[in-house]
Amino acid sequence: MQNYVTRTCILISLCALAGFGAMASANIEDRDSCRKVVRSIAQIEEAGFCDSAEVLQECVSDGASIHHGDFLTSAAGAKRVLVMGVFHGDEPHTAAVPFLWFKRLKQINPRNTWRFIPVINPVGLRKHSRGTETDADINRNFPTKDWGRSGWTKRRNPGKGPASEWETRCALAHIRSFNPDMVVAVHAPYGILDFDGPKTWRMPDISALPSRRLGTYPGSLGRYLWVERGIPVLTVELPAPGRFVPEKDLILLQDWIGTVAKRYRKEKP
Ligand SMILES: [Zn+2]
Repeated sequence: MQNYVTRTCILISLCALAGFGAMASANIEDRDSCRKVVRSIAQIEEAGFCDSAEVLQECVSDGASIHHGDFLTSAAGAKRVLVMGVFHGDEPHTAAVPFLWFKRLKQINPRNTWRFIPVINPVGLRKHSRGTETDADINRNFPTKDWGRSGWTKRRNPGKGPASEWETRCALAHIRSFNPDMVVAVHAPYGILDFDGPKTWRMPDISALPSRRLGTYPGSLGRYLWVERGIPVLTVELPAPGRFVPEKDLILLQDWIGTVAKRYRKEKP
């Protein structure tokens, strides 16, 4: 914890000197706690992710931090893809997809720049529970115009107010600072692909992950980004643990995402 405080203070001082003040989303290096989070997920290969993991200032709270790692490219016309896993703490195996894609990018010459946040809900992961510390559902907590209108259930608790959860504010800080052209959220256990994006795009043919458009909801990431901002969101719903999606299919999916990001021209839907 002392490391965070010291590093954060140094970064804040530098930012103040540079005149960025509160606008800054400085990166804090944070490898040790990244490894601790990863170790808590059984049978996950992090593929060297933690060696370069960083944390935004907005992504630290009360001893927990949300790590991210970038894969940069200098390819002409590169777009930006943001991938997030473990929205719900009881879906730990969803972190495997960002780690697999991170590993794969090291073996190819990527067309796009990628940012990975394998665990956006580290407190839920620690508690083995779906929601945040206050049991809010991050995927109903985004500050959409109609936040909270889907009502409250124990499973779909939108939180005390729009973006009341620090995890949601961390995701928003990434959306602001990384400015993605496409966003991928990995969930479980329904075993489908749900694309909030242009209807003309044909989904990849993956038998373990058939395409099914479920629509968006007040406070959901899809409504916040696609419906209100025209940024496509792919929700990958993995099957329950123990059911298998072949690695080659997840790689096919990564290529499809890269192609969508590359070709899509941001516009209001
Ligand atoms: Zn989920």
